[in-house]
Amino acid sequence: MAVSERKKIYLSSPHLGDVEMKYVQDAFATNWIAPLGPHVEGFEREVERYVGARAAVALSSGTAALHLALRYLNAGPGHTVFCSTLTFVASANPILYVGAKPVFIDSEPDTWNMSPTALERALQEAKSRGNLPKAVIVVHLYGQSADMDPIVELCETYGVPLIEDAAESIGATYKGRSSGTFGHFGLFSFNGNKIITTSGGGMLVSDKVEAIDKIRYWATQARDPARHYQHSEIGYNYRLSNILAAIGRGQLVVLNDRIEARRSIFDSYHQRFGKVPGITFMPELPESRGNRWLTAFTIDPEVAGVTASDLMERLEQDNIEARPIWKPMHLQPLFQGCTYYPHNEVESISDRLFESGICLPSGSNMTDEDLDRVVHVIEKCLKKVTLI
Ligand SMILES: *Cc1c(COP(=O)(O)O)cnc(C)c1O
Repeated sequence: MAVSERKKIYLSSPHLGDVEMKYVQDAFATNWIAPLGPHVEGFEREVERYVGARAAVALSSGTAALHLALRYLNAGPGHTVFCSTLTFVASANPILYVGAKPVFIDSEPDTWNMSPTALERALQEAKSRGNLPKAVIVVHLYGQSADMDPIVELCETYGVPLIEDAAESIGATYKGRSSGTFGHFGLFSFNGNKIITTSGGGMLVSDKVEAIDKIRYWATQARDPARHYQHSEIGYNYRLSNILAAIGRGQLVVLNDRIEARRSIFDSYHQRFGKVPGITFMPELPESRGNRWLTAFTIDPEVAGVTASDLMERLEQDNIEARPIWKPMHLQPLFQGCTYYPHNEVESISDRLFESGICLPSGSNMTDEDLDRVVHVIEKCLKKVTLI
């Protein structure tokens, strides 16, 4: 069947407005086009204040932020780093950059995020082998916080530093506290598809001010404080430019509105399909509030009569972008042979989420008509097999 001529509805497209333009115009007017400049510092201080962290450094990407956090924690050859398996590859690639070995931890049904049970098993075994990981990277998928209390407690008990990959979860909270502020480090991404964007960019936050200062130095080609160009350590060109930081400052102002918009999109989908037998929406822990970056649900074909791929195909025919849940890292050819700890002996939760999950268009700039179009296609697909 031919793909519809109708306007394309994206999974999550950038949503920029007047405030961002005002900041960018200021960057032009003051000729701060060069990297660094007042907007970079302004953006860092504003993110610190927004999430409640003592220090922040603006970087060229979330991936760069994770790379430098791992370097700071001295992860390298001969070491392991634990990481959520259900995530985008950028959560795990930096482990390879530093020469360490990833060990993947499954999800749990209540959050779709890191299973504390699997993490505990992995830590116990590592300890008994005398090979505790250099860090645990916990991912907050689709803007939904992992169950942080048991994860933080386990990391403290075993003395392993925790890094939060909060690339998708800026503005989310767990028991009133901001996602990204529970571990040694938290990182955010401002890539084009995220809830707020600078077209590309990232931020690393921490309460350890000296750590962030050191990372800022590495990210700026490790330039020693001397008038001449002097370097005593390996550095990177990882800083965010002033002009992108200007966009970020404008986006931060509207972040709460963007969260409201995405949550309301989730609610619309949930109202319509939440009771359909076989469909299970991504949960939200009590006392936590996700930013609902993407609305995701799983569909059991035995019950609902259609598969997630059927739905995606139908949506695509109507020029609507939908995606599967991230393919788990332990199933990726890149990480073949890496150790993996499933939720329990009998089931791997992330495999099931991947096989049966779908992410729906969730952009904060979607119109009511866009949303109706998506809902209508799904309804039609379901109606063919069930009476909803
Ligand atoms: C987007 C994303 C990243 C990477 O961020 P970039 O800014 O694109 O480098 C890392 N982890 C997760 C879970 C992401 O979704």
